[in-house]
Amino acid sequence: MALVTMRQLLDEAAKAGYGVGAFNVNNLEQVQAIMEAARETQSPVIIQASRGARKYANDRFLYHLMEAATEVYPEISVALHQDHGNSPETCKSAIDIGFTSVMMDGSLMDDGKTPAGFEYNVRVTREVVEMAHEAGVTVEGELGTLGGIEDGVGSGEVNLTDPDQAVEFVNRTGVDALAVAIGTSHGAYKFTKEPDREVLAMHIIEEINERLPTTHLVMHGSSSVPKELVDIINRYGGEIRPTWGVPVHEIQEGIKHGVRKINVDTDLRLAATGAIRKAFAEDPGEFDPRYYLKPARAAMQQVVEARMEAFGQAGHATDYDPISLPDMAVRYKEQGHQLTVT
Ligand SMILES: [Zn+2]
Repeated sequence: MALVTMRQLLDEAAKAGYGVGAFNVNNLEQVQAIMEAARETQSPVIIQASRGARKYANDRFLYHLMEAATEVYPEISVALHQDHGNSPETCKSAIDIGFTSVMMDGSLMDDGKTPAGFEYNVRVTREVVEMAHEAGVTVEGELGTLGGIEDGVGSGEVNLTDPDQAVEFVNRTGVDALAVAIGTSHGAYKFTKEPDREVLAMHIIEEINERLPTTHLVMHGSSSVPKELVDIINRYGGEIRPTWGVPVHEIQEGIKHGVRKINVDTDLRLAATGAIRKAFAEDPGEFDPRYYLKPARAAMQQVVEARMEAFGQAGHATDYDPISLPDMAVRYKEQGHQLTVT
């Protein structure tokens, strides 16, 4: 088993100064694409499932897909993460299934839509930290809200993270990782032109990192929405409007300032859709799903490999031995919620 905790994965990334892509999955082809890319580039990786994914695939199927992944790719360190948990109950159910990391998104109420107050966020996140750390499981919190809506999650409203509040939030909750809102959004339509450092509010990341040097920062909504992927979709009958994502070089700047987890979902969706549209257009007589799912899987793998190289995680798959969940639980007990990174 090479299922590791996200905490260990991010601690190691911090030590060596790289970022780790967190890719969303709903099905077999996505799991295979990500794991194959990890093997090809020798990368540790985070695989994450939203509530929508758990509902779509069914928890048991998702868990066993992940178990299969660790059997087929034993040399790859992989963390299994609950993306945007809407309540302590959702996080608890993920921990019970065997996820090694959970996100408690208390920036929104449990409907996943209404922006929540600071005190509410602190309370639910602290509750999840107590419960998760007892099991050795990592916790990601979120402060500020992203724009856009993904899998029904999001208020559509942007509230940038306030660095003073971030310090208080981390100290009061004990989270291992903090998702910060810097102006990115979920989905394909992030920006109407290429965003620069100002539009991306990179100074927020820099300031939070200076004040919380041992907290791992997380960038959500960080697909780059490459024009070549959008063009393939549109060439074969799709209708994606002109749009811009987060440039890879800006993510690399973030990595220099404490960003350790980078969430990428849209880029894989775009790659798969383009490949499937192309396959349909090229041979309308084909009706074997493998005919279009194989190129879709290959296209997703290509995107993931490119991100793994760009984020710097490539080559680090076998740097360390996994710490078991019970051993991690002992560390939290002995050192407190905010572990000393050694
Ligand atoms: Zn997100």
